Amino acid sequence: MSKSKSSESVKVKVVVRCRPMNEKERAAAFESVVSVDVKFGQIIVKNPRETSAGEPSKVFTFDSVYDWSSKQIDLYDESFRPLVDSVLQGFNGTIFAYGQTGTGKTYTMEGVKNDLERRGVIPNSFDHIFTHISRSQNQQYLVRASYLEIYQEEIRDLLSKDQLRRLELRERPDTGVYVKDLSSFVTKSVREIENVMNVGNQNRSVGATNMNEHSSRSHAIFVITVECSQLGVDGENHIRVGKLNLVDLAGSERQTKTGAQGERLKEATKINLSLSALGNVISALVDGRSSHIPYRDSKLTRLLQDSLGGNARTVMVANIGPASYNVEETLTTLRYSNRAKNIKNKPRVNEDPKDALLRKFQEEIAKLKEQLEKRMGKKNKKKQRRRAGDCSNGDGRDDESEDDGDGDNKVDYWREQQETLESERRAIMEDHSLVAEEKAQLLQEKERKMDDLKKEQEAGEMLAAKVKAMESKLLVGGKNIVDHTNEQQKMLELKRHEIAEQKRRVREMQQQMECRDEETLELKETYSSLQQEVDIKTKKLKKLFAKLQAVKAEIHDIQEAHINERQELEQTQNELTRDLKLKHLIIENFIPCEDKNKIVNRAFFDEDDEYWKMRPITHIEDDHQMMSRPQSAIGFRRPLSNHARTAMKDGLDMRYKAENLLLLTMDMPSRTTKDYQQPVIAPKVAAALEDALKNEDDIQVDASGFNGSLAPLASASGSLRKPKSGRARTGKQSDTWTSSFSARNPTSPIYPQSRGLVPK
Ligand code: ADP
Ligand code: MG
Repeated sequence: MSKSKSSESVKVKVVVRCRPMNEKERAAAFESVVSVDVKFGQIIVKNPRETSAGEPSKVFTFDSVYDWSSKQIDLYDESFRPLVDSVLQGFNGTIFAYGQTGTGKTYTMEGVKNDLERRGVIPNSFDHIFTHISRSQNQQYLVRASYLEIYQEEIRDLLSKDQLRRLELRERPDTGVYVKDLSSFVTKSVREIENVMNVGNQNRSVGATNMNEHSSRSHAIFVITVECSQLGVDGENHIRVGKLNLVDLAGSERQTKTGAQGERLKEATKINLSLSALGNVISALVDGRSSHIPYRDSKLTRLLQDSLGGNARTVMVANIGPASYNVEETLTTLRYSNRAKNIKNKPRVNEDPKDALLRKFQEEIAKLKEQLEKRMGKKNKKKQRRRAGDCSNGDGRDDESEDDGDGDNKVDYWREQQETLESERRAIMEDHSLVAEEKAQLLQEKERKMDDLKKEQEAGEMLAAKVKAMESKLLVGGKNIVDHTNEQQKMLELKRHEIAEQKRRVREMQQQMECRDEETLELKETYSSLQQEVDIKTKKLKKLFAKLQAVKAEIHDIQEAHINERQELEQTQNELTRDLKLKHLIIENFIPCEDKNKIVNRAFFDEDDEYWKMRPITHIEDDHQMMSRPQSAIGFRRPLSNHARTAMKDGLDMRYKAENLLLLTMDMPSRTTKDYQQPVIAPKVAAALEDALKNEDDIQVDASGFNGSLAPLASASGSLRKPKSGRARTGKQSDTWTSSFSARNPTSPIYPQSRGLVPK
């Protein structure tokens, strides 16, 4: 468990650094609008537009300010060294660089590579940490480094081999928020940790088409964890863990999103998200009224939760540019960091946390050493046993070579063993009394023993090497303490540190004096005449009035900035609402209600990832839409329906005869044609036709009624000619044809005896 040693609150320290004019700005003859009062810790900005309108300059006071001529090492000694010192004592510490792109954030954090004068906070802190360790006494240290980047709300491990992988944030009640699976490298020297930083920087630029643009849109966080183990007064080893976050934030200028839509809009929104969330967190912390601090709004604020209002000491460097064309951004940066000044943190020493790697290392080393001891112990016992056996055999040589065995150290032991075996082998070779076969067998045995010995030796050596490697990762100081130059250097640093401290105190006192002066002036003042009192009071009034005006102007500016921000947020909100409406419309109109419900039922919000996710289909138990597959019936491989069971008992349908019987009758398609149906022929016609088609031989000719009926017969013959064709006719024609017969002889049967022919 981590214990708290000191929990007094400490304010976030804010320092401002103004970079020099660059070549372009000088060439274009831009006016410088920033003046830096290092002594009073003030930045004075005159807005070229407003001063012409008679408005006063804007004054901001900070813990320290640095002008264009400031040196990296001065910045380090005055503002960052105390923080890194506290990290070495087991506190958490964070250094932020905030500001518009091109104002010197990366210059302040990293500086110029391989240039002692111009290297930034990160390399200076490497030196500081390892020098401290080398000078320490009776302490064991473990230093490790991680490097990550947040781009568009995605976390990338800059030291990982797989640069496409995105990491997630997790939270644990004891250690707080951490990045899951973030790689960290144990480093033993300045060179090693520099190497880690270089690898990370290379990875940072990989995949970025435009490095400048990429770095201005992403946050880079270099994390150094220093673990220190020291014997406490209670006689036990205690471990303190300090974590140093070195953060190079994305450019604070508003990412333009005018006219951006879809992916581009989302991108712009996400880029702004972390920084505006950081601003909101700062506001909420300073406000004092809000009980809710919106840390969870972005990855950056979640990850640096401890650094803002939590268990850490924090220094924020606000970088600004001096040129007039940047004045708006400069003012925004100054206002932003001015607010951060009032954040209060509660840093405490992290003592004996559960996840201290140093403790694990120490335990692992102890375990390995024990294993090694055991191995050696076994060897010694074996050796003694063997010696006893050999003695009984009366082999004099063995006795001789192992005489001084007990006092051996590990290395000698192996050599000695080897020599023994070798001499034994030689003895066998020279022994002429042995039969050749016997000799070969003995020799083989010795060879095998030698092999075994070699293997064991190798294993032992490997174990020893592992212990050594692990031990080498733990750094112990006190070696160079007698070094004269080192001592001098130490003194020099101490002096520099003292000077920095003094400067800081002078500045603070001056700031305080300024305030007190004004307060006491009035009290001390005695007026010799009424006129004098009027004069002095008028002067004072004027001064106060000017102050009031400045405050009013400031309020106005802040309100304006607030309105602008609000408008932008509203615009974003409108665009997002429009997007949402479109999606709703698509869902309502194109996705079936059933499917929509299924999706709604499966969706859930993952608190850890802060993302909506889908439950896997099979896990839904109480949802009747997605019934799980029933259990198999006992003795069967598949679940059986009741119908199948009864059908199996009846045994009629092959399909249910047995388990896993596959019936492959084809499922015939339904018929789409009909059988041919003859047209319906009236019965009269059919009879007539039948008669007409009778064989000629079967017809008897009766000519008895020939005379009287010739005429009508002749008239009928015309219509009879047609049926001769043998084709059945339907319709009117046949009607007239039959009716002509019935008309001729109304008494005759329904089926007339056609053509006057009489059936047999
Ligand atoms: P940022 O990271 O904020 O975008 P950089 O650190 O890349 O800005 O700085 C932009 C340029 O300005 C670099 O060429 C850097 O060397 C130069 N620069 C910034 N600050 C200083 C300074 N204090 N002194 C000298 N050069 C500076
Ligand atoms: Mg940069």
